[in-house]
Amino acid sequence: MFNLEDKTAIISGGSKGIGKAIAFKLAEAGANIIVCSRKIENLQDCFDEASKKGYKIDILECNTSNKESISKVVDFTIDKFSKIDILINNAATNPYYGPILDSKDSHWDKIFDVNIKGYFDFAKMCSRSMIKNKSGKIINVSSIAAKTPLEGLGVYNISKAAVVMLTKVLAKELAKDNIQVNTLAPGLIKTDFSKALWENDEIYNKIVKTIPQGRMGEPEDVSGMALYLSSDASDFITGSLFTVDGGLTT
Ligand code: NAP
Repeated sequence: MFNLEDKTAIISGGSKGIGKAIAFKLAEAGANIIVCSRKIENLQDCFDEASKKGYKIDILECNTSNKESISKVVDFTIDKFSKIDILINNAATNPYYGPILDSKDSHWDKIFDVNIKGYFDFAKMCSRSMIKNKSGKIINVSSIAAKTPLEGLGVYNISKAAVVMLTKVLAKELAKDNIQVNTLAPGLIKTDFSKALWENDEIYNKIVKTIPQGRMGEPEDVSGMALYLSSDASDFITGSLFTVDGGLTT
């Protein structure tokens, strides 16, 4: 049920953090992985690590706020593998921390271009191949911020809640084509994105007291759920939200 041999998966923002852990988990299950992000140095590091493990990986530069950039990734994948089976929409951004009333138009534009519009554009372009094959899995990485607002991250919280609705809309519209669309909502996970929460011991110790399992998650803690949602094991599950947070929002 969890075998992904002959499957092709695109992972946006897959060069590090949660995206990389997901990409490697899918590759371990046999998938061809196409990892994209903005910076070639991150991609090259990821490629080198994956190649050492014997994974089937391609890397491509892509900024998910740009439709043409996404289109190049999709075209490359179709040219090389003739199909797309799995899309992991994971690349997200947050350029602003502070009260929402002080946020600028530019913050809203950047956050929504990457966190929502980029997810939609990727899903739309990949779904063409999935509809043709009457088979596909789309996993949209949201956050516990979609359920409970995280302080100082107002616009980001709203974008992550929008991801949940994007998932539901796509799930209903694509169900007839045997495409399952689900949301994966990580809790506090140790990555560069969340560095401010764990690089200082005092702040980290305060944070972990709020997590029932007594620690922040590692990117690998999220990857098992992504494998489940990418595999045949989840064939009758669509439009749902799966939280991976060590009990934080329980
Ligand atoms: P991360 O370690 O900073 O990794 C982010 C990845 O996205 C990198 O590969 C980055 O590579 C890429 N990226 C960023 N902006 C991009 C863009 N515009 N276009 C293409 N790629 C882009 O972050 P993370 O913590 O793994 O976050 C991954 C996802 O998990 C995000 O959706 C985030 O909202 C969600 N999440 C994280 C946490 C947490 O605690 N860490 C909690 C809940 C949800 P480049 O710099 O090379 O582009």
